[in-house]
Parts: sequence; structure tokens; C-alpha cells
Amino acid sequence: MKIFNTLTRRKDEFVPLEPGKVKMYVCGPTVYNYIHIGNARPMIVFDTVRRYFEYKGYEVNYVSNFTDVDDKIIKKAIEEGVDADTISKRYIAECKKDMEGMNVKPATTHPLATEEICGMLEMIQSLIDKGYAYKAEDGTVYFRVKAFKEYGKLSHKNLDDLQSGFREIKVTGEEGKEDSADFVLWKPKKDGEPFWESPWCNGRPGWHIECSVMSRKYLGEQIDIHAGGEDLIFPHHENEIAQSEAANGKTFANYWMHNAFLNIDNKKMSKSLGNFFTVREISEKYDLQVLRFFMLSAHYRSPLNFSAELMEASKNGLERILNCVSRLNDFLKTAADGGMTEAETAAKAELDSLVAKYEAAMDDDFNTADAISAIFEMVKLANSTASEGSSQAWLKTVKDTIEKLCDVMGIITEKKEEMLDSEIEEMIAARQQARKEKNFALADEIRGKLLEKGIVLEDTREGVKWRRA
Ligand SMILES: [Zn+2]
Repeated sequence: MKIFNTLTRRKDEFVPLEPGKVKMYVCGPTVYNYIHIGNARPMIVFDTVRRYFEYKGYEVNYVSNFTDVDDKIIKKAIEEGVDADTISKRYIAECKKDMEGMNVKPATTHPLATEEICGMLEMIQSLIDKGYAYKAEDGTVYFRVKAFKEYGKLSHKNLDDLQSGFREIKVTGEEGKEDSADFVLWKPKKDGEPFWESPWCNGRPGWHIECSVMSRKYLGEQIDIHAGGEDLIFPHHENEIAQSEAANGKTFANYWMHNAFLNIDNKKMSKSLGNFFTVREISEKYDLQVLRFFMLSAHYRSPLNFSAELMEASKNGLERILNCVSRLNDFLKTAADGGMTEAETAAKAELDSLVAKYEAAMDDDFNTADAISAIFEMVKLANSTASEGSSQAWLKTVKDTIEKLCDVMGIITEKKEEMLDSEIEEMIAARQQARKEKNFALADEIRGKLLEKGIVLEDTREGVKWRRA
């Protein structure tokens, strides 16, 4: 297997630290709102990477954090008049719902920054002891970038260029830095903010330190793969390398994987352009399987453009696969026992070569676009060779193969059961009743249940309207 490694800027052969095992860390979201579709891309991409390793027989230890202490969380908490913990807990729960909808497997461990402060204090202290970090007068602890000779090796930036760049930027509150390139490991608390005690000041950690600490705690000092969106290469991942390698004296991660950006209608996604979508919003229009299928239709290192047309195309493509599997299931119900015919044996050989094509695509830096093409060819083969008269052996072989390879993509091939109109009307009536009784939690729950079944509710002046997504 070959993986494009940001560190070496080439496709490197994958050699695990321990045979048969993969230790993988993926930077997770900061939880202050519903996740947007840009956050969804790395979740889907690296979940697929994990699933493919598992398909190949590896045991994967997959760690992905939730950043639950951050300026944005604190700001949102102040706006709502609640504590930061309420905000982060709420959006972690919502994020997990979206992950489930996208069929992203839960990580082996989902550590929270606020529960790992002890480990952070310990690593910061060891960095100070080794001369890689220092405390400024106001209690802030900075990483001394100049002390880490390999700084810049991931982003391929030169420290001198970085310093001359940083020199122009004067940030108030960071006057205590020895050097403009130094970054925060620990910062003093401000009024009303959550804080922890430390030997340097009451305060909270900088963002970068949490991943170094959690990765070491749950995966060890050295890991196979560290991954995230390409926007994390600098400074986040560069800083993680500096912290981890300075603290542990060992190479941190052997392979660094980064997914490219997601654009909307060929423009950068931004709130100000009004082209900002949360996964939850998409789920009101589409089954999230469609979003997942769409995300995997391009190679993860290519920029991906999100548009209504492309989502429709993905929806149709996915439908084609699901219809094929559903037909195979129907034929299987009545198929007679028996081995393959000669023509079916020939088709089986073709199927095997398509499996090889699929694996070759995935072995080549997880080329999901080509792997999906191979699945479509299998669908075509199934559609042209399977019928009511086919042998059970062939029907089962082709169905199991398509299902197994779709599962690696995280695509569930079983069609969702459609709800009857009368059942929907009944649930809507129950929701109206709950609202009348001001039991909004129940009303929301019913709405959620309907959404899971692909039924979207719209509250209009004329009353509640519903449609199938
Ligand atoms: Zn991280």
C-alpha cells in the first residue's frame, strides 16, 4: 500500500510500526456548533482509510479528539448565558449524531481536551525542563521554536522565512515571547473563562498541546498515521511535531495524511458568502449516505466542489448500486440451489478482476474515485448476468462482493424501509400534541425520528407539511 506522505511529499510504501496493526490519530472538531460539511470531509475520508485497513486485515487503533475548550466555545457560552461545558457537551452529542448518519464509525477513543489537562501539565513541564519551553512574566508558557532544529519539516517552511514573516505581526498580550515564531502552550485565564491550576498560572492550554498529549496517552510515543484537513498542516501539525518530538525524543508519526478543501459552487465556503452548510442542514434534503458517497467520489487530496447538481448525481449513482443489490436479494429469494453455470463462472472471473482493480485503486493512496468506478462496473456486470434463473452461487457471490466493497466505503447497501403515509400522519399528530403541551423535547424527538426515516417536516402558515427527502 502506498500513502502520500505530506512529510516526504511523495507516495511512501506503508510499513506499520507493529505488524498487523495501525495506530492512527485524526484531529477532531472544536465543538461550538453543528459540524459543517467541511468538517465532514476528513471524518468520512479517514473513516474510509480505517475501514480499508480493516478490510486488509489490520487492527486499527483510531483516536480522534474533541476540542472542548476554546475561545469560540467560551464566546458561544457567554452569548447563551450558560457555561462552556454545556456548549461543548451539546455539540459533541450533535456531532456524534451526524457521524452516525454519515456511517462514520466511532473512534476507538474520543478523548476530550478538558479531561486530559494533567497530561498536558506534565508534557509542558518536561518541555520546560529540557529547554524547549519557557514561562513569560505574565505566566504564559511558550514553546521555544528555535530550540527545535527540525521545525518546518512538515510544512516545508524555513524558520528564517517564518520569523521574518512573524516579525511584522505584533500581537498584544504576547509581548513576553522571546521570538515571534514561538507559540503558546499554556495561557493565563481571563475573567469568566474556565481555568485550571498550574505551576505557572491559573489558566488553560493552548490548542496544539492537546493532540500531542492525547496521541501519546492512547497510542504511544510513536504512531503510524496522523491525519487531518490540509489547513492543519501549518501551524497545528508543525507545532504538534515540535512538541511531541522534543518531549519524547522520537519521530512522532511516520505518515502524515491531509485531505484537500471543500468548495461550494467553486467558492470557498464562508458564512459571509452565505454558502455555509452544516451536515444537519444537508440531512434535511438528503440521506447522509449521499453526502458520504459524494465525498468519496473524488480523491481525498483533490479539492472537492459541492453543488446541487453533483449531489443529485451522487444520489442517482448511489441509487443504482442500491437497486442492483435489492434486485439480487429478490432473485435470491427464489433461486434454486446449485453451482454456477459456465457463463457465470466466466462472469466470476470478471468479478475477481474488478475486485483486483478496486484494491489496486485503494492501495494507491486510497483512490476512492477509481474504487467507486470499479463498484459501478460490478453493478453493470451483475445487472447483465443476474436474473430469476441465475444460480444461487453466482447471485450470492456477486451480491456479497458488492456489499463488502461498499461497506469499506461506509455505504450501507440495504434500502431503508419506507414509512406509510398514515404512519407519518400519526407521528405528526403526536408531535403537534406534544407542542401544544409545550413538551418541546418530545416534539423534537419525533421530528428527529421522522428525519431518520427520510421524512422532512416544514412548519408553514397552513400547518405542518411533510415530504420525503
Ligand atoms: Zn490536532
